Parts: sequence; C-alpha cells; structure tokens
Amino acid sequence: SPVTTDPEVSEALQVLRRVFGYDSFRGDQAEIIDHVIGGGDALVLMPTGGGKSLCYQIPALVRDGVGIVVSPLIALMQDQVDALRALGVRAGFLNSSQDFDQRRAVETAFLAGELDLLYLAPERLTVESTLRLLDRGTISLFAIDEAHCVAQWGHDFRPHYLELSMLHERWPDVPRIALTATATRATHTEIATRLNLGAARHFVASFDRPNIQYRIGLKNRAQQQLLELLRTEHAGDAGIVYCLSRNSVEKTAQFLVDNGLPAVPYHAKLDPAVRAANQARFLREDGVIVVATIAFGMGIDKPDVRFVAHLDLPKSVEGYYQETGRAGRDGLPSTAWMAYGLQDVMQQRSMIDSSEGDAAHRRRLATHLDAMLALCETVACRRVQLLAYFGEQSSPCGNCDTCLTPPESWDGTIPAQKILSAVYRLDRERDQRFGAGHVIDILLGRRTPKVVQHGHDSLTVFGIGTELRDSEWSGVVRQLLAQGLLTVTGDYHVLVLTEASNAVLARQREVPLRREPERAARAAKQPRS
Ligand code: ADP
Ligand code: ZN
Repeated sequence: SPVTTDPEVSEALQVLRRVFGYDSFRGDQAEIIDHVIGGGDALVLMPTGGGKSLCYQIPALVRDGVGIVVSPLIALMQDQVDALRALGVRAGFLNSSQDFDQRRAVETAFLAGELDLLYLAPERLTVESTLRLLDRGTISLFAIDEAHCVAQWGHDFRPHYLELSMLHERWPDVPRIALTATATRATHTEIATRLNLGAARHFVASFDRPNIQYRIGLKNRAQQQLLELLRTEHAGDAGIVYCLSRNSVEKTAQFLVDNGLPAVPYHAKLDPAVRAANQARFLREDGVIVVATIAFGMGIDKPDVRFVAHLDLPKSVEGYYQETGRAGRDGLPSTAWMAYGLQDVMQQRSMIDSSEGDAAHRRRLATHLDAMLALCETVACRRVQLLAYFGEQSSPCGNCDTCLTPPESWDGTIPAQKILSAVYRLDRERDQRFGAGHVIDILLGRRTPKVVQHGHDSLTVFGIGTELRDSEWSGVVRQLLAQGLLTVTGDYHVLVLTEASNAVLARQREVPLRREPERAARAAKQPRS
C-alpha cells in the first residue's frame, strides 16, 4: 500500500497497517510501543481485550533480533504462533510438547536470525541450556505475558516466574515488557518488585469495561432465575454460566437442555474428548451456552459472549472480574449477572474455616471473600466499587443494577443486636451449637421440636424478633456475615460471634443494612437494543 514509505508515518504504524491490517493504535499502544522500541522497560496493565499482544509484537518486528515471549499458556502457543505465521510473521515456540527434532529446528532458525518472535514457557527459559542458546543469538526484547503469575498469593502463581528477574542481570541492555490483565494495587507492586521493574515505565489502562452491565441479585431459585434471564434478555445468545461444583455444572446444563437451550457442561473431570468437543462447539457454533467450573476460560478468545452468569459466589473480586471480563470483548452490550444468597456466604465462610494452611493463609482467603461480599452488598454503584478495588477512581456508571434501581439502606442496628444476643446465649451451651435456621426460629418465637428439646423457648431472646419475616431475617444474617459481624464454623454452618460483634452488642456501633428488594432478579431489566 502507498503508506509504507511515508516519512510522516512511524515505522510502528506502518507495521500495524502492513502486517496486522489495522488503521490506528488504541489507547496507550502507540506510547508503549515507542517506549519499548526506544529500549525502555515497561510494565503494562490493561484489561482483557485491550490489545496487549501488539505492544510487544510490533517492537519485536521493528527492533533487531528476536523477541522472546514468556507465556504460561503452553496449550495456546501453537495457536498464537499459527496466527502470527498466517500474517507472515516468523514465529516459533519451544515447549515440552515438542520432540527433539522439532526443538532442534526452532533452535536452528533462532540462531540463523530467521525468527521475529520466539515463545517460551517460563520453565524452559530458566534452564541453563536455553540461556546459553539465547546468549548465542540476538534478542530484541523480553516480553513477560500474564505477569501476575509472579504474584505469590495470587491464584495463578507460577514459581518459575520468580526466576525471571535474572533476565535483567544477564541481558541489561535488552528491554523488558511485562503485561497483565489482572492487577490490584498489591499485585502491581509485587510484579514490579519481583521482576525488578522498579525503574520501568508503568502504563496503567483503565480497567473499566463500560459495555458490561453488572448485576448481582438475591438468589431464591437460581436455575429458574437464570432461565428467566436467558429467555427475556438473551435468547439465542452465547454465554458462560459459572457454578462452584462439578455436580451443579452437570445439573444446570441438563436443566437448560431440558428447557430447550443449547447448553454444554465443562469441568475438569469430564472425559477429555467430550470436554474438547464442548469447548469447540461453544467457540464455533452461534448461541451455545457453556456451563462450567472456573476451570473454563483462561485463554478462551470468543468475542461475542453476551452474558456471564454466576450461580455461586466467586471467591475473590479478581476472580469475578476475570470471569465476567470474558463477556463482550467485541465491545457490544453484555451482561454480568450473579445470583447470591445466605447459603453462599455460609458455605464459603465455613470452607475457609476448614481449609488447610496456616492462619495467615486463612486470613488472606477471608480478606478476598470480604471484598467480594462488599461488592455484593454495596448500595453504591457496582462499577465504582469494582474499579476502586483495582485502585481506580470513577463516578456512578448508570449501567449497573444499583445505578438503575438504587437499593435503599435501613438502620439494622436493633435486629443485629437481637441476632447477636441470641447467638451469644446459644454459644454458652458448649456442646451444642446452632445454625441460622434455629436462631431465626428462636427470634420468631417458634416452638419447633428442637427449640423445645433444648429449652430455648425460655431464653430471654425467644420471640423478640417478630417484626421481621423469615426471609428478612435470613437477609440480616447474610449481611452480618458479609460485614464480618458474624461468622460460621464447621460443616453444620454454626453461627459464632466475631471480635467486631462486641461493638454492636455494646451499642457502640450502628449496622446499616441493604433493603432486600422483593424481586431483586427482576429489578434491573435492561432494554435490548
Ligand atoms: P489482550 O491480550 O489485551 O487480551 P489482544 O492482544 O488479544 O488483547 O487483542 C484483542 C483484540 O483486539 C485482538 O483481536 C486484536 O487483534 C485486536 N486489536 C488489538 N489492537 C488493535 C488495534 N490497534 N486496532 C484494531 N484491533 C486491535
Ligand atoms: Zn453503576
């Protein structure tokens, strides 16, 4: 095309147009690419779909030598390399899936200067023989993809990432660019420290995904609620439904199929051939719904996923953001929908209580869960809260359930005191401890066999809570659990007080609660455009 020799157009832009066929850069791409071409180190935080790949692919094409790309996704290297070759880029990879001859051929091409990009798993890069190989060629840059894998307490931690800090010592003149779509402030700092990128320029794009409408509603009959969502708003659309267990994945997929929807299950225990076939169907056919555990999704690039639904509570905001982020990569309106209730909170609190690992580990899990619960229970804009979690300030979005139908809050101090007093009284009966249902029975003054058997109808708290209904009391319990004013232990989800409970019992602390909408699931219907 005529632009290729225009001196007004940078070499990077020419490559963008000639090789990749795009007109212009997006967001920070041009600046990042210039910086790396100039030999600078960069740390790039950009949401999924933001266009991170070009940030190292173009500098690798413009600079002399081979760009080395460290990627943990061995299963995807073949696809990435094939896609580049189709554009005429000379790309190769080295990983454990290859035999000796295949590896040898790639090494020969590398040494002969016949590669633009070489993809490596971190495990392979850090062995001495690979380092010696790299010493014998010319390297244009190191790209460290999925850089959050260096974060030790993150869910994708890969020990070999820690060794990548040596790249700088061994090749001080080769620019490094680390990229990730998952970064809270803490992860961001950890990446910079562990990869020795303190002096690098940091490019932090907004993590906002404006086309995604966030909605978190109360769970009552989750499968029915899901079905209604699909029928009223997403007929014929492709989407992902996340469930916590393999069992609920199977059941939910079957439920959708029974209701005439094209749904397939996906989880780790499925026969590998069936799993691959289900994934392929989701990617190739229109309007397929995959019901999955969180095993599904990393590296899946389907642009027109119109909804992501959570039938169970994610364990962290990072997880929630990553999973919902698979919706709407094409920029068109999409829904992130979740149903959550008291059982979710109980289940996760008790899973943490009985989890392996030391107290510090459990505290970390609890912190992650607390942030997730705060997002569920907020009366403010979901997006504002979500972005604030990633260190980003914003104003109410107008495109989430709390913006569209603002929830009310009410003063729940007295009901909270009543529940906590009841739990306190029961807690003194050492051998027998009681779950939420029993506590609510006592507050409502119900002489159930269990209440009578334990003589709980003679407690001072018996019957003092008739101002609220059953479902309202469960809502209060759920929110107290969410706020850390109550917790649970053991398999039976026994309610126990926390340190924070004391301030409420001592009347030193107020307890604002979110009013339960009658039909939260229906509260925020979006008009389809
Ligand atoms: P990420 O790795 O950040 O999730 P990708 O690098 O896979 O994102 O890019 C997402 C999509 O956007 C890809 O299909 C890519 O080709 C496309 N893309 C990236 N940069 C541009 C651009 N400047 N113009 C048009 N499309 C782009
Ligand atoms: Zn909002």
